[in-house]
Amino acid sequence: MSHALLAIFWGLMGAAVGSFLNVVADRLPTGGSLLSPPSHCPHCGTQLRPAELVPVVSYLALRGRCRSCGAPIGRRTLIVEAGTGLLFALAAHRLPPMSLRGWIELILVSMYLGVLVVVTVTDIEHGLILNRVMYPALGIGAVGAVLMGWPEGAYRLAGGAVGAGVILLILLLVPGGMGWGDLRLAGFVGLVTGLPGVLFALFVAFVSGGVVAGALLASGRRRRGDTLPLGPFLALGGTVVLLYGDVLVRAFWALATWV
Ligand SMILES: [Zn+2]
Repeated sequence: MSHALLAIFWGLMGAAVGSFLNVVADRLPTGGSLLSPPSHCPHCGTQLRPAELVPVVSYLALRGRCRSCGAPIGRRTLIVEAGTGLLFALAAHRLPPMSLRGWIELILVSMYLGVLVVVTVTDIEHGLILNRVMYPALGIGAVGAVLMGWPEGAYRLAGGAVGAGVILLILLLVPGGMGWGDLRLAGFVGLVTGLPGVLFALFVAFVSGGVVAGALLASGRRRRGDTLPLGPFLALGGTVVLLYGDVLVRAFWALATWV
């Protein structure tokens, strides 16, 4: 399969996974089951037809409204479907599998990206980084680290310790700003990006978080002392490094030797 075709195929898989991630983000924060009831309109309860379950296409065909009652379907549905599709396509483009090991790596990285998408949504919408997401995610991350073998697996585990350790330090020094969910998430990001990737992920997280916090403060949409959830920024850092970590590390060393 050509690389472009693979990226398109994997992107379509990603859109379907994004559709599932929407269900996860809808149901887990309220303690609901993922399996039942089948997908339905939250307003009128009408069960969705198979033709209404096609990622991205259904949303656009229905113009973002329920077929029965006309209630708007949150735009997040579309953003998560299209966004996960794009992330999967990028992952296939960046990590074209040449072997069984390559396929395992692409599947694992895609799962990690999916976790980061769910965490971003639940943290923005509910201020929650759920244990029901993070514990399985940490389990998959640990399996991924072990599969990497020696010594790369050890760098992954060390990355997890560094990620969690940095947030633990902040939790101890600046009480109130962050939570244990952030610690588990940073540990997960470290586990899947490893050393030195986790350092770049944390850098992206804190810089992007600072920029957004500053912009919200300047535009008067938030007051000084309001806290911004860290999860989406940690997820952004993890996503950037999962997809472009090697580029970042090479650019950093080129810059370091040049300076
Ligand atoms: Zn409806």
